[in-house]
Amino acid sequence: MANRPYIVGNWKMNGTRALLAEARAIDRGAARASGVQVAIAPPFTLVNPLAEAVQEITVGGQDCHVQAAGAYTGDISAAMLKDAGATFTIVGHSERRAMHGETDAVVLAKAQAALDAGLEVIVCVGETEAERDAGQAETVVCAQLQGSLPTGADIAAKVTVAYEPVWAIGTGRVPSVDDVSAMHRAIRARLIAIYGEDGAGVQILYGGSVNAGNAVELLSADEVGGALVGGASLTAESFLAIVVAAGGSASE
Ligand code: PEP
Repeated sequence: MANRPYIVGNWKMNGTRALLAEARAIDRGAARASGVQVAIAPPFTLVNPLAEAVQEITVGGQDCHVQAAGAYTGDISAAMLKDAGATFTIVGHSERRAMHGETDAVVLAKAQAALDAGLEVIVCVGETEAERDAGQAETVVCAQLQGSLPTGADIAAKVTVAYEPVWAIGTGRVPSVDDVSAMHRAIRARLIAIYGEDGAGVQILYGGSVNAGNAVELLSADEVGGALVGGASLTAESFLAIVVAAGGSASE
């Protein structure tokens, strides 16, 4: 694998400044895991405090607005994230797609806004349980990729894809390694169709109930370049166990 495994924590709407202690501990662990790239996407209020508290890990947003500025009460632009110390943002998380009605077109516009502001992007895709049961998982995910991924010269190097089956997020249920491999191979083929040979270098993360117990197996699946981690990223102990599984040496 050309890139280091990429392990990203998505703190969702969790954390006040009290959680910065965990971030510092994660940062110390990441410093001992030079073979792994570690990042945290905290709530907006913690982007700047976290960016100032850490040295090894990168900090990102969980979402951004499509516009750079304007009358959008309550929203945050990519430029604001960058100004606060973020180097990337997640877009298209299934919770945004489901709870905020974000379509592929909106996700694409957000990804483009993030790139325009100088951020890298993690674009999330994933099927629902009903779609998987109907045998539509790969079709749905490939359509999301086609509709959500920004294109253009030199764009692929700034894009990461996170495959997160909706039914695996926060449920403790995970796909089989064979299913993860099959989906990640399909995603790779679509990335090459979209970006040409640059698509071979785009990292594809698996996300959905990754924890210390299943990380080694999930990360061993074909074309898995890392993990997007929700619940297990909230403590240094559980998150660093995943970093170790990804090939680092973060343990004391
Ligand atoms: C997520 O929401 O991105 C996620 C992967 O959550 P969890 O690890 O808690 O399933």
